[in-house]
Amino acid sequence: MRREIKIERARRLRKEDPAYWTYKRLGERYGVSTTTICEWLTGKVSAWKAAHPERVRELNLKRNAAKREWERNHRAKCPECGGEMGAGSASRKAPPARCKECQPFWEAERVHERAERIVEWWGGGLSLGEIAGRLGWSVSHLGQEFHRLRERGYDLPYRYQRSAPRFPEQAVA
Ligand SMILES: [Zn+2]
Repeated sequence: MRREIKIERARRLRKEDPAYWTYKRLGERYGVSTTTICEWLTGKVSAWKAAHPERVRELNLKRNAAKREWERNHRAKCPECGGEMGAGSASRKAPPARCKECQPFWEAERVHERAERIVEWWGGGLSLGEIAGRLGWSVSHLGQEFHRLRERGYDLPYRYQRSAPRFPEQAVA
């Protein structure tokens, strides 16, 4: 539900039965805090904030400190070994995929998997441009990768472009 619609409905409910529709109950219904409901219905929260900048700053500092504390105490588990990952890994939007010990192995594994996919695509007749497109790479980057992979023994045979027929009659034949 859009925010504007929620606000409008909360207002209507509150008007119909203010004794029943407390801020708390409205907050639960629309999945927002009591403070937010108060702001929606009265605008008092932002008015208070505007009048008390010092207090707002203090509250923000306190909240940030609490957040850091939470991050210190909550760590994501490494999907590889189950070990604890770095501080803050639980709340980070893009946490490191594996713990420090597992990361290099996991990376190597992923690079190998990707290489095998490139081999498969190349073997299946895809062009450099098509493969680069699938990987989100530039063709020149893919070209360099081809070079590295060939050196490491991946099966990426050279393709020679079929030259145009030298004599027109060959094309007919
Ligand atoms: Zn690990």
